[in-house]
Amino acid sequence: MSVPVIEGPAFDEAWFAARASAGVRGLKAYDPGHDLVAFRRRFGNDVLVELGSNENPYGPSPRAAAAIMAQLEVLHRYPDPLGGDLKRALAAKHGVGVDRLMLGNGSHELLMLLGQVFAGPGTDVVFSRHGFAVFALATQAAGATMRIAAPLPRDGAMPLGHDLDALLEAITADTRLLFVANPNNPTGTWFGGEALDAFIERVPPEVIVVVDEAYAEMADAPDYASALGRIERHPNVVVTRTFSKAYGLAGLRVGYLVAAPGLVAVMERLRESFNVNGPALAACEAVLDDEAHLRMACRRNAEQREALVDALKARGLEVFPSQTNFVLVGFGREAAPIERALTDRGVILRPMGGYGLPDCLRISVGNPDENARLLAALDEVLHEVRG
Ligand SMILES: *Cc1c(COP(=O)(O)O)cnc(C)c1O
Repeated sequence: MSVPVIEGPAFDEAWFAARASAGVRGLKAYDPGHDLVAFRRRFGNDVLVELGSNENPYGPSPRAAAAIMAQLEVLHRYPDPLGGDLKRALAAKHGVGVDRLMLGNGSHELLMLLGQVFAGPGTDVVFSRHGFAVFALATQAAGATMRIAAPLPRDGAMPLGHDLDALLEAITADTRLLFVANPNNPTGTWFGGEALDAFIERVPPEVIVVVDEAYAEMADAPDYASALGRIERHPNVVVTRTFSKAYGLAGLRVGYLVAAPGLVAVMERLRESFNVNGPALAACEAVLDDEAHLRMACRRNAEQREALVDALKARGLEVFPSQTNFVLVGFGREAAPIERALTDRGVILRPMGGYGLPDCLRISVGNPDENARLLAALDEVLHEVRG
């Protein structure tokens, strides 16, 4: 069947964008990094070293697979729209009421929903430069104005980390939301419990503070503290967590937030009823029960991170402090050619140009074999570019 060509609008992206809501018009889609499916086809899974997305190289607890198998019997049924069993398990784990919990299709969905619910045209949202990319997306999608605070100096003790004073100064009468990630992606940096408390005390209660704790399970610095212990005293504080990183379930897409029951109730008005699927609900509940596996993955990550940091520093590279399963690395030059050369060798890292750090790459901490292959490829490439 041939479709007659008619004169008129182009119906291209620009034409439809002109019809989109104000926030969406100026928005750029989230950059997910490389097309990994194409790379897996080109190199094969055994050759490719995937260190671009901060995934857990040890995988989830084996209990996840068993829980998913049991769900195969009931794929024709809708999942529990309330996610009751998983929320009760999370409530017990964190010692909070079930009414303080909300589940999302990844914490990404919850961050976007927070923007939609609490921000909008005529309001603004505060976060740091080199903060998590989704903060900007959530703000712009809501049609709100981004107020971006300068980070801590690059040559200081916590290079490019969140400058909490600068964030406070960026707050205006129109500020509805403030996003911080602790530890932060892509810098890996963190701030301590005392700084967190002093910060929260000074944020006006009308401003909702979202503390994205995607890597909290891995943080073991003595001064690190989760904001979970602060939500009762400060009902304007929201904590987001995820099963994608330490729990090793990135493929299932489950995140959650912990907040005041009233905030959750308002957020629930906009949540899609079946946003978390049945196998995902069951698997997350199962892995929560396996603390030993979680601790094993976090311990191995910490060991491998330390070894990787030492190896990178020994190569004269700038390595940012990290409490996560990745390190930000400065190359002292435009990193794009290095990244391209590594990609040609089947080593996938995350370029940082989009984060305003074109001299850096973000490297996920892999297992010992992956890290060894990364370093071997890096040595070849550094030898080439340094001549
Ligand atoms: C990986 C990550 C997330 C998690 O996203 P999911 O949608 O839960 O997979 C959230 N915040 C930060 C800072 C992250 O790095």
